Order: sequence, then C-alpha cells, then structure tokens
Amino acid sequence: MNSQVRADFPALHQEVHGRPLVYLDSGASALRAQAAIDAVRNIYERDCANVHRGVHTLSQRATEAYEAARRTTRDFIGARHDREVLFNRGTTEGINLVAQAYGRPRLGFGDEILVSQLEHHSNIVPWQLLAGQVGCKVVPIPITDAGELDLDQLADLLSSRTRMVCIAHISNALGTVVRVKEVVRLVRAHAKAQGSEIAVVVDGAQAAPHHAIDVQDLGCDFYAFSGHKVFGPTGVGVLWGRDDVLATLPPWHGGGDMIRRVSFDGTTYADPPALFEAGTPNIAGVVGLGAALKYVSEVGLDTIAAHEQGLLAHATARLQAIDGLRIIGTAANKASVISFVLRDIHPHDIGTILDREGIAVRTGHHCAQPVMQRMGVPATTRASFALYNTQEEVDALIAGLGVVTELLG
Ligand code: PMP
Repeated sequence: MNSQVRADFPALHQEVHGRPLVYLDSGASALRAQAAIDAVRNIYERDCANVHRGVHTLSQRATEAYEAARRTTRDFIGARHDREVLFNRGTTEGINLVAQAYGRPRLGFGDEILVSQLEHHSNIVPWQLLAGQVGCKVVPIPITDAGELDLDQLADLLSSRTRMVCIAHISNALGTVVRVKEVVRLVRAHAKAQGSEIAVVVDGAQAAPHHAIDVQDLGCDFYAFSGHKVFGPTGVGVLWGRDDVLATLPPWHGGGDMIRRVSFDGTTYADPPALFEAGTPNIAGVVGLGAALKYVSEVGLDTIAAHEQGLLAHATARLQAIDGLRIIGTAANKASVISFVLRDIHPHDIGTILDREGIAVRTGHHCAQPVMQRMGVPATTRASFALYNTQEEVDALIAGLGVVTELLG
C-alpha cells in the first residue's frame, strides 16, 4: 500500500539536513493527508462564509460541508446520531467540557474520579481542576510493570464514592492498548450492584489513527479525539457523548449559535450539538477533519492496523538487538508506538542527533509525567509509526541510533 499512500502525504517528500525525511513522530502530530489539505483550501478559496447563519449560497455550502463532516465523523466512530458528535478544538477541550459540563454539576465533596496512571496530562489536569472546584478526589488507577492498566486494582478501587472513570484507549507514552470494553464491563457491573451512575470517559487521541472505533461497542459515555493525530488539521477535534447523557448537560460556553432565544429577562438554549458549539467554529478545520476521516476509512483501518503491527514487530525486534537499549512499555497489546532508553544517553541528545540524520522522533516525558515516574525513567525517546511509514524507515532509525552510540555511547 505504501507508494500510493506516501503520495497522499506531501510533507513526507522533503529533505531535512540534506537527508530524506523519516517521520517517526506521528504520535505527537501526524502528517496531513492531501485530501484534508484540499478540503481546507476549498473552504478558504470557495465556500468561505459562516455556518448556520446565512441564507446566501456560500453560507449554505459551508454549512452543508460542516454538517457532512459531522455525518462522516458519526459513521467513523459508530455513533447513533449526528447530535452526539460535538466539534471542538481537540481532545484537551473535549475532556475539559466533560469535566465542567458533566462533572461540575454532579460531583461534590467525597466523590471520586478514578484516572488511569497511563494518562496524558490532558486526561489528568481537567479532573484536578474539577477536584479543586467541587472538593472531589482524583484517584490514580495503577499500571503494571509492563505498562498495562491493572484491572484487579481498578476493581478494588471501585466504591460507592466512584462517580467517573477516565482512561486512554491507547497510551501515547507506551503504546499500550487499553481493554476499554473490559473496563466498561467492570464499571457497569459495579454501578449496577451499587445502584449508582458512573461515567466512563475515554481519551481516544492515539486510537483514532490506528484502530477502528465503535463507541457503541465500547460502551463508554464519552470519547474524545483530535484532528491532527488522524491526518487532519490542528485545532479541531471531536467529543462524542451518548445521546441520553448529553441531553442532561447544561451549556458550558455561552455565545452565538447555542441559543434558542436571548433576552435580558432570560435565555433559552439550543439542543446538542449546537448547545456545545458556541461561537463561530473552526469551519475549515472541521471540513478538513471530515476529509481526513474519509481518507482513513477508504484506506481501511484494518489494512492500516495490519501494516503498523508489521512495523511494530520489526522495530521491536531490531531495537531489542541494540546493546544497552531498553524498551519502556511491554504490554501484550500495543499500538505502533515504542518508547525506549539507550544506556544513560539523554533522550534530548538522541533526538538531536537523529534529527541531523533526517529522522524525527519525540523525546521527553510525552506530557505523561506520571507514566515516566511509574516506569522509573525521567524521559524516553519515542518512535511512533503511521500508515505511511516503511520497514526501511525503521532500519534508518536503527542506523541513526548506531550514529548516536558511536558519538555518545
Ligand atoms: N491524549 C493523548 C493520549 C494524546 O496523545 C494527546 C496529544 N499528545 C492528547 C490527549 C492531547 O491532544 P490535543 O493536544 O490535540 O488536545
């Protein structure tokens, strides 16, 4: 699939420091698909008007493109209704919305939010902010030495105080694929026995580009992801919420397009999704995201997953053969993300030398400091692979690490 797919990503075809670019940082931000770039350009060059407001043709075309992207997204994640798909700035904003619109009115002193230790800061800090506002407590769900969510410990932590459980679908730092369905099953069984309500929030930022997502099948209440991880634009993302749950939430941001009627005597509100999309949205971003999701669906998520598992196996075997290299995160089920440390060489130095070889990797704590603390390392080097990467690029990484050890080892 590669030569055709590679042609679909213009940014791949450049040199960095005189070397062909080897882009192994899609976990931080993926390259943009030509289809998404074209869709964005079309909005700015042609259908350049506001949505949901104008009777004129350009506004109607922009509105149609925007709402078509909502339908594409609905189908991409298996949502039941268009109104369950909320557009926003990305995963971070989606989780903050859940914290403020779902959590803030419902949670109080003594309540607990269980948050997996695997999380990106964007699925930790919004809960800490909420805890500061309402007096509830954020309780970490431990992970194992392999970097897997410890479901036994989760079962022990579930109590009459538990009101929310927040987990990643795939860890950005370790690549662990979390058994979301199993978590949901545990939580639902506990909630049923208690006669309580517990919301399950899933951070899908790293899952959307790699795996088919079916929110009905997962059984969660909220699912968030970002456009730029799935070959679409930056600054745009999606929060899916179950219809019956969204219908109970108060507005979060106030402004245009989220109201039914405004007067100084009182204001009435629109229904979701408009209720949660106050103000002029990122129209071009949403339309670009829709085009990216369509592109990914056309390539096929099963094809993508199989290709990436091949890259992961090849990279794991080759990295393990390097003297003094230790892979951090050895879960049985991983996505194509590999974190590692090499002797006592600082990841920043590794990243800088690799960059001179034209190879882009991420170094540092990956916005997941609790994961680093748990795994006993201050930072790692992370290679993350996407549908456009090749085995030759994995080999280039290995050769680049040879240069690193020659210089610093
Ligand atoms: N969660 C995970 C697992 C991520 O990898 C990221 C991005 N690195 C985020 C959340 C945050 O995404 P965004 O910055 O697009 O809001």
